[in-house]
Amino acid sequence: MENRIDGRTGLLALFGTPVGHSGSPAMYNWCFRKHGLNLAYMAFDVNIDDMEQTMSSVKLWNLRGGNFTMPVKNIAATLCDEISPASRIIGACNVFVNKDGKLYGDVTDGVGFIKNLSVNGVEVKGKKMVVLGAGGAATAIQVQAALDGAAEVAIFNRDDEFYARAESTKEKLAKETPDVKVTVTHLEEADKLAAAINACDILVNATSVGMKPQDGISLVDKALLRKDLVVADTVYNPEKTQLILDAEEAGCAKAIGGKGMLLYQGAVNYELFTGLEMPVEEYQAWQAEQAK
Ligand code: NAD
Repeated sequence: MENRIDGRTGLLALFGTPVGHSGSPAMYNWCFRKHGLNLAYMAFDVNIDDMEQTMSSVKLWNLRGGNFTMPVKNIAATLCDEISPASRIIGACNVFVNKDGKLYGDVTDGVGFIKNLSVNGVEVKGKKMVVLGAGGAATAIQVQAALDGAAEVAIFNRDDEFYARAESTKEKLAKETPDVKVTVTHLEEADKLAAAINACDILVNATSVGMKPQDGISLVDKALLRKDLVVADTVYNPEKTQLILDAEEAGCAKAIGGKGMLLYQGAVNYELFTGLEMPVEEYQAWQAEQAK
């Protein structure tokens, strides 16, 4: 790696806290090397209060781009010079590029999710979706699905602090994408959830249920998983959640885990950084080889 760095190496970075566990530096640096690009990607542990100074340094040092993770995604959206429509609606950025000294922010979790569906042969345009959850991942998916022309987005969330966020998403989408029918219902209303799943094409779990310590649980009654239903999860650890296992057992049209969302979000970012397609499959093969 050291042999690649010289006086002209362009820097990209991840900002947030904690960042030490992030797989992004390894993934992007592997791809830069593969493409012979004189770029390097580092992670910096910064908190919300450091962000103004961070963004000034990004400009001063002419960073080419990078990513924002928790807890700085929201403040980042206020500090970029320009942001995408999805970032404006969600009020967050997870990626930025430096275009001639101006920082352009975007949010690509939703794009990555929808690209992963597409790679699996599923398009959202004209489809009815049920999305469980109203946190960061769920909101990104709901907004991107609406921007990409889904017919309906039915949001279900339990009666917690995220419920108001679902209502706010509904309000914003009513203005931004008036043709898309968006509804918000309490997850506790089991009859309404069953009716919505029966009427939908794509069911998405975007809650943290399924991920440790809530692994081995699903929010959806197995009896509702029919053969022509597409089921997708955002949880990638474990790779197959209880919902995905149930969907496979029920013979659902597709049962798509969250790992692809993570990977394709990275691929969308890589394309923004370099204009090149990320060698996703080669990187996956390399990772599998390392894990042996
Ligand atoms: P968040 O904390 O912002 O939101 C959590 C959501 O889960 C809320 O809607 C909350 O109401 C719901 N929830 C939690 N426990 C619940 C329970 N017991 N019953 C019903 N609802 C419950 O989290 P987030 O950042 O949106 O992440 C949600 C999940 O998506 C996580 O598992 C995360 O790993 C995953 N995720 C995956 C990717 C990816 O690239 N695959 C990206 C982001 C997040």
